[in-house]
Amino acid sequence: MNSEVKTLRTVKRLVRGQETADGDGVRLTRVIGTHQLLQLDPFLLLDDFRSDNPDDYIGGFPPHPHRGFETVTYLLAGQVEHRDNAGHAGVLKAGGVQWMTAGRGVVHSEMPMQENGLLAGFQLWVNLPAAQKMIKPHYQEFDQASIPQEVRDDDVVVRVIAGETSLGTRGPVVDLATPVTYLDITLPAGRSFSESLPDGYNTFVYLIEGEVTIDDGTLTAQSLAELGEGEAVEITAASSSRLLLVAGEPLNEPIARRGPFVMNNEAELTQAFEDYQAGRF
Ligand code: FE
Repeated sequence: MNSEVKTLRTVKRLVRGQETADGDGVRLTRVIGTHQLLQLDPFLLLDDFRSDNPDDYIGGFPPHPHRGFETVTYLLAGQVEHRDNAGHAGVLKAGGVQWMTAGRGVVHSEMPMQENGLLAGFQLWVNLPAAQKMIKPHYQEFDQASIPQEVRDDDVVVRVIAGETSLGTRGPVVDLATPVTYLDITLPAGRSFSESLPDGYNTFVYLIEGEVTIDDGTLTAQSLAELGEGEAVEITAASSSRLLLVAGEPLNEPIARRGPFVMNNEAELTQAFEDYQAGRF
């Protein structure tokens, strides 16, 4: 595909997601934000939620705060109704993304709604640089039709949520304080996907389904591969596969984190709790 010789990113480590529950009894698989993988700078959390049993998710996430980072919800099936304390509300539908910059503070609810019983999607937390943790909250929201799909020669399909591919497909999510590339890739069995990624970006692959190899590592469903440095990534599907390829510029800043607040030091965390309790969000 590309005749230039590029150094390929290898697998630095493999991590399996862990079953847990959050919100009002929502069962999910946590992949980043566990003891095994506390963070992958600038990413603070990755949850995979998928179920065909509404009991697993219908309790949803009643009103809760966030400060100091961004929450990125990408839905594959079902719907999530959201509402915040500033009057922003809507329904995220299958194939759509909500990129919420919580900044100095948002109190919101995220309530799944049944659609043929199914719910599936991901929530990723992206840290904000110290200088932008207290910016005004804002949203970027795109439905399925607004996310460009790149179909490559070999039937590899790439949905570009953020960032730009080497073929020039650009995601709709832009102007990020923390630059991120977020791709959803569908690979038929036996096919490979190659892509250059910005130098220095920390990168992971999360396998939604199937089985892939990256360098000499084999990745199975609901596992994450943290990749080492290199100019490009090459992923080959052993069976029909779907995966997220996510890369971000590391912040290399201190992290003070408690529950829904992610700041740079303890004093800022204390302030966050005080501000929230005093209704200053
Ligand atoms: Fe939330």
